[in-house]
Amino acid sequence: MSQVYNFSAGPAMLPVQVMKQMKEELLEYGNAKASVMEISHRGADFMAMAEKSERDLRDLMNIPDNYKVLFMQGGASAQFSMVPINLLRGKTTANYAHTGHWSKKAIAEAQRYCDVNICVDSSHNKYTDIADFKDWHINEKGAFLHYTPNETIAGLEFDYIPETEQPLVADMSSTILSREIDVSKYGVIYAGAQKNIGIAGLTIVIVREDLVGNVAAHQPILFDYATQINNDSMYNTPSTYPWYVAGRVFEWLKEQGGLSVMAKINEHKAKTLYAAIDGSDFYSNPVVERYRSWMNVPFLLANEDLNGLFLEQAAERDLITLKGHRSVGGMRASIYNAMPQEGIDTLVGFMQDFEKENG
Ligand SMILES: *Cc1c(COP(=O)(O)O)cnc(C)c1O
Repeated sequence: MSQVYNFSAGPAMLPVQVMKQMKEELLEYGNAKASVMEISHRGADFMAMAEKSERDLRDLMNIPDNYKVLFMQGGASAQFSMVPINLLRGKTTANYAHTGHWSKKAIAEAQRYCDVNICVDSSHNKYTDIADFKDWHINEKGAFLHYTPNETIAGLEFDYIPETEQPLVADMSSTILSREIDVSKYGVIYAGAQKNIGIAGLTIVIVREDLVGNVAAHQPILFDYATQINNDSMYNTPSTYPWYVAGRVFEWLKEQGGLSVMAKINEHKAKTLYAAIDGSDFYSNPVVERYRSWMNVPFLLANEDLNGLFLEQAAERDLITLKGHRSVGGMRASIYNAMPQEGIDTLVGFMQDFEKENG
C-alpha cells in the first residue's frame, strides 16, 4: 500500500504505527490467547490495559487528581444531553456559546432540559469570527457555560479560554490532544474519539469531582456521571476495542514527546497550509486569522466549477477525503495529530501544480 494522506474530518486518519500494532495484535492480545475484542472487560488483561490508558492520558494532559476520566459510549452527541442532565443541579438556565454547527446542536439538545442563554453568536458572520469575551452576555444565574473550542466544520478555533466562575464545559472533539491545555480551568471536557483520539465508539469525558452526584432520579442511570465513576466506566460493557485503540494512540503520543511536541508540529502544519492558501488568489479561507483552526482547514477555489477536478486529481496523488462540508462547500483538510508534515507538504505541492494548470 502506498502512503495515502487522508484528510477526513472524522472518522479520521490514525497513526500508521498504531494501525500496524493493531494488525499485529489483532488475533492475539498479549498473553490473552485471544483478541482484545474477544476477552472480558473485567478480566486482568483488559483491566490492565484500561488502567494504563487512563494513566497515560492523565500524564499527557496533566489532569489534576480531582478530575475523573470516563471512557464512555454515545459519541460527543450523547454529551449534549449528559451535560445538562449532570450539571444543571437544580438550576434552570445555562449559558451556551454559539460559534458553529456543533455548538448549535449542543444548544438544541440543551433546550430540552433548560433555558439556554446564547451568550455569544457567530451565526451572523457565518462562523468566521468570535466576539471578544468582554462582549459576551453571560446570564449570572447560569448553571454552567458551554462552548466548542474548535468548530470542526467552519474551521473556527478559540485562541482564548472564557474566564468564568461558572463551571466551564468544552466539547473538545476535534482539538483534544492537539496541544497542551490547562484542565483545571474546566468543569467538564468531552470528546468523541474518532477525530484525534482513535476510532468511533468511544467518548472521553473529564469531569471535576465536585460537579458529580446531583442528577434527578428519573434520568437514565447510564447518563449519570456518578454511575460511570463508581464503576470505572464499566457499569455495562464498555466499547472495548475503541478503548484499546485509544490506549495505543496515547502511547504513540508519549513516544512523540507528548503534547508540547505535538503542538509545535500541529502549529507548523497549519501555518504551512494557511500560508499556501493566503499566498494565492486561487484559494481562500474566510476565517479571521487569529481564530483559524489548527485541525480543520476549509478552503475554497476561486472557480467552484473546478471542485470536482481538484478532488479527482488530488485522489490520484493519494490525497483523499478533501471535499468540504456541504454547508461550507469547497475543500476541507482535517489535519489531526496523525497527519504528518509530509502530508501537508504533498497537499501544498499539489495545490500549486493545480493552480498552475487551471489558474
Ligand atoms: C464530530 C463532532 C461531534 C459529534 O460527534 P459524535 O461522536 O458523532 O456524536 C460533536 N462535536 C464536535 C466538535 C465534533 O467535531
